[in-house]
Amino acid sequence: MDIGSGIAALKAGFDISATIAQRIKEGKLSASEISDLLLKLREALLDSQAALIQAAEENRVLKEELANNNRITEVEKDLQYRNDGGFYVRASEVADGREIPYCPLCWGNERKLVPLNPGDGSGYYYCSIHKAPYETARYRDSQRV
Ligand SMILES: [Zn+2]
Repeated sequence: MDIGSGIAALKAGFDISATIAQRIKEGKLSASEISDLLLKLREALLDSQAALIQAAEENRVLKEELANNNRITEVEKDLQYRNDGGFYVRASEVADGREIPYCPLCWGNERKLVPLNPGDGSGYYYCSIHKAPYETARYRDSQRV
């Protein structure tokens, strides 16, 4: 049940309560008619409640998606691609004196920031998830005999 159906059910409930008020005013309301109208009123209120509960859940899911998309947008603005090594670093971390390389495959596939394993610190990095190596010029120079 969507919000439109919930609003329609709520309107039906108002209409039923107006009918009850009118019938009371007219003094024509029997006990069985009261019972029927109250049953219809409860059904309308339950339909409306169900629609509100569903709408609240959809709203919660959409808020989570929005927060996640905002996080991705913020991280993306902060990422810098390093040709030397072929990985990402975050501009904010570099500005703080920290240069943490991140796997471009992990970010590209699942929007996950996965720090690369720095190995022995010689400029050779490794993604433990993708089993992918990343070599800087410093590392390649150090390997030349
Ligand atoms: Zn990876």
